[in-house]
Amino acid sequence: MINVIGAGPAGSFFSQFVKDDVRIFEEHKEVGKPIACTGILTSAISDLIKLDKSLIANRIKRVRLIPPNGDYYEFKLKTEELIVFRDQFDKFLVEKAQDKGAELYVHHRFLDFKREDGEIISEFETKNGRKNFSSDILVGADGPASKVAQASGLFNGRRNWVGKQYTANLEMEKDVFYVYFGGVPDFFGWVVPESETKARVGIASEKNVGMYFEMLRKKLNLKEKDLNECQAGPIPIYNPKNVTSKDKVYLIGDAAGQIKSTTGGGIVYGMRAGKILADCLNNDLDYEKEWRKKLHKDLMFHLRIRRFLNKLDKNDYNELIRTLKDIDLGEFNRDYPLKNLGMFMKPSLVGFFLRNSYKAI
Ligand SMILES: Cc1cc2nc3c(=O)[nH]c(=O)nc-3n(C[C@H](O)[C@H](O)[C@H](O)COP(=O)(O)OP(=O)(O)OC[C@H]3O[C@@H](n4cnc5c(N)ncnc54)[C@H](O)[C@@H]3O)c2cc1C
Repeated sequence: MINVIGAGPAGSFFSQFVKDDVRIFEEHKEVGKPIACTGILTSAISDLIKLDKSLIANRIKRVRLIPPNGDYYEFKLKTEELIVFRDQFDKFLVEKAQDKGAELYVHHRFLDFKREDGEIISEFETKNGRKNFSSDILVGADGPASKVAQASGLFNGRRNWVGKQYTANLEMEKDVFYVYFGGVPDFFGWVVPESETKARVGIASEKNVGMYFEMLRKKLNLKEKDLNECQAGPIPIYNPKNVTSKDKVYLIGDAAGQIKSTTGGGIVYGMRAGKILADCLNNDLDYEKEWRKKLHKDLMFHLRIRRFLNKLDKNDYNELIRTLKDIDLGEFNRDYPLKNLGMFMKPSLVGFFLRNSYKAI
């Protein structure tokens, strides 16, 4: 028996593939709520699962990169990106797991665990008081503040950004999203249309995210009355030193910090990690080794680029975006970052990196 903590994408996707009996525990009464996500998925999602059309809020064909001086670069995506209704997406994935036999327990908040006679006894807070469930294996798919990681002593060395996003009344073209660079020192701001009149507007930073959001709001001339639902949450920063398993306790997704440090996107990588863990348990393979073999290089690439970007000032960003105009970024898929690296080998961009290389890595 496997107890999975968290009915997010990582936990539900894992539960679809593992052969043992699975219980999924979710602290909220409804899977997928509250939402703290923009719901952008690259075409890499189609390599993992076929989505129902009803989950898709919008389709993105173009991306606009906006530096501090406003001289933007817009490119056309070779394959469109999807904006999903994140709550519906999570429900869809957990239902797939239930179809494969997983049992779902909502309103069960994992608190702690102890070991007894080779079994893992997990304690939960439920609306009817505390309850214990035993299992042979415990999977922490419980997001960036993972209680499973904390209870198993695997939470050391964690850092995160805080993402703050509102659904805003904003008229814009529906098939393009905007990325604002240089307004926040360690991330970016985003405006992602959900429809012609509604957009997901947000920013992330390790510190002072409220202040940076205010700056973005003013830049976009958004009135407070235009902001509807606020969604905020931590986004873990990938740390290759994170240990993600210990004595039959395993971490996947945000709980393991498996996030792209350039964008904060973690849905695809969390699902991939879930699938890798299922394969490891089904075939008696070493999870720690396997996920690093399959995901670490990509995640490390994103982390290195993030460290480099975080050293740039506003003028550097103006120059970077000007330089990127020489490249057709529409070919690049950030979920397969090492596939198309050759496209970046343009003299102007290489020159930019060399001139700024003392800031990098
Ligand atoms: C503002 C913002 C915008 C983002 N936008 C994007 C985006 O556009 N694209 C993208 O790919 N990623 C995005 N991300 C990141 C993305 O949301 C995460 O990487 C992704 O949700 C990770 O999936 P997961 O299954 O690992 O964890 P989660 O989705 O966090 O799922 C964890 C689940 O565990 C439950 N849980 C937590 N603690 C307990 C407990 N103690 N007991 C029981 N259940 C528990 C939670 O309720 C939740 O359902 C964004 C994040 C933020 C904050």
